[in-house]
Amino acid sequence: MISVAIDGPSGAGKSSIARRVAARLGYTYVDTGALYRAIGLFAHRNGIDDTDEAALAPRLGEIKVELFYRDGKQHVVLNGEDVSEDIRKPEMSMAASNVSALPAVRAFLLDLQRQMARDYNVIMDGRDIGTVVLPQADVKIFLTASAEDRAMRRYKEFLGRGENISYEEVLEDINRRDYNDSHREIAPLRPAEDAILLDTTGNTLEQSLDLVERTIRERLQSK
Ligand code: C5P
Repeated sequence: MISVAIDGPSGAGKSSIARRVAARLGYTYVDTGALYRAIGLFAHRNGIDDTDEAALAPRLGEIKVELFYRDGKQHVVLNGEDVSEDIRKPEMSMAASNVSALPAVRAFLLDLQRQMARDYNVIMDGRDIGTVVLPQADVKIFLTASAEDRAMRRYKEFLGRGENISYEEVLEDINRRDYNDSHREIAPLRPAEDAILLDTTGNTLEQSLDLVERTIRERLQSK
């Protein structure tokens, strides 16, 4: 099986790019952020403080997260309910970032992610795929862009979905999450030593798509 790891900060375009490149290559796209979002949603719905490991860890056994694919789109199922829409609410971004700093949560999701890579050719996007989840990945890409560019993309996404949020709020959220994600003790956001760094600042989606696809094809050919 072939695995491609795409890591990077929030809003770098990882999911938009990874999903489309996976379709071009015929691979399965795994959006691991959605798994953390599902755990964040579980905490939220059950009135559990999403920063409180002692409260959340004993409840993880109640959680079953599954992924399925329809029309090339990943769906996330939390205890039998398709929560793909609910996990995209702006407040779930911070909840996901908070639960993702808890070692018990990371351990809980590790097997599920590795199993996906055992069963399918995958393009998996996240924060620690190249460093922790799939250190043997065939290709590792670290995708980034300026915070302003990333905030503008997220902002447009939210507007498109009718969310009521300002650009400044999105930028602040991106900066806070960047800080959270790169300063946590466990699996902090950083490029793997053998990752290829790609900066998409100022690119159109099409340009970034071509860049990533080309990079993957070249790297696979040279192996
Ligand atoms: O990618 P997305 O914005 O959906 O991820 C939500 C949050 O989940 C991120 O801010 C990050 O804290 C966390 N995450 C993670 N490790 C991953 C994927 C996401 O810590 N592999």
